[in-house]
Amino acid sequence: MNASQMVVAHEVHKYYGGFHALKGVSLQVAAGEVTCIVGPSGSGKSTFLRCINQLEKTDGGAIWLGGDLLGYRRKGDELRELSDADIARQRLASGMVFQRFNLFGHMTALQNIMEGPVVVQKRKRAEVRVEAEALLERVGLAGKANAYPSELSGGQQQRVAIARALAMKPKLMLFDEPTSALDPELVGEVLAVMKNLAQSGMTMIVVTHELGFAREVSNRVVFMDQGQIIEAGTPAEVLSTPQHPRTREFI
Ligand code: ADP
Ligand code: MG
Repeated sequence: MNASQMVVAHEVHKYYGGFHALKGVSLQVAAGEVTCIVGPSGSGKSTFLRCINQLEKTDGGAIWLGGDLLGYRRKGDELRELSDADIARQRLASGMVFQRFNLFGHMTALQNIMEGPVVVQKRKRAEVRVEAEALLERVGLAGKANAYPSELSGGQQQRVAIARALAMKPKLMLFDEPTSALDPELVGEVLAVMKNLAQSGMTMIVVTHELGFAREVSNRVVFMDQGQIIEAGTPAEVLSTPQHPRTREFI
């Protein structure tokens, strides 16, 4: 495997009961690159992200993240399956941002960001607070540390959710339609934060319908349909000169 690949997914399969949701999905994402996944509803985009984040177990194939095979650890020459607790720890390698921000409603913005590092990673509260404040500033919310989610707009909540994921110091960030639940006038502020993150060198996989963002920020665009990657290439290739009829229909 090429060491510069942050994500290598090889022939990933996923079934929900008898339904074949991922039919051998393979994808490589180089460190520091942004890949946008586009495609119709029900094509398996969320399922694929959830497999990378280990919210779902795969039913075939393999995923490596930063060189580590997800779900396993090496013991000498052997691969051992990880326990659920170890999988929970390994999951932290990727930060996930969802369509609905899922912040803790009873916690302030700052507390939401501090929760993972303090409770899950058992890091020192004082040190985490300094980092959380810096993250709030980074997402343009320096003045909102003590605000509760209900006091924030959707765009502000989503920016807190991005800061919360970053607080765990993930190797890569996964975004599942991060702006789909937002009022149109709030989409830009979230995309701007994501663009900034991309420019800072973060490896990102972004499921999105924002083709302008895909065109401007991504290194690669992948089109998924019915559990498969149908077409992949540069944004210009996939978005301007799509080859597959299904891609053409969608774009
Ligand atoms: P997308 O994100 O591209 O809209 P999903 O990954 O959410 O697609 O879903 C892919 C397919 O798998 C859809 O047909 C969906 O109904 C089905 N699916 C997703 N999650 C589940 C689940 N937990 N149980 C059963 N079917 C599911
Ligand atoms: Mg989805």
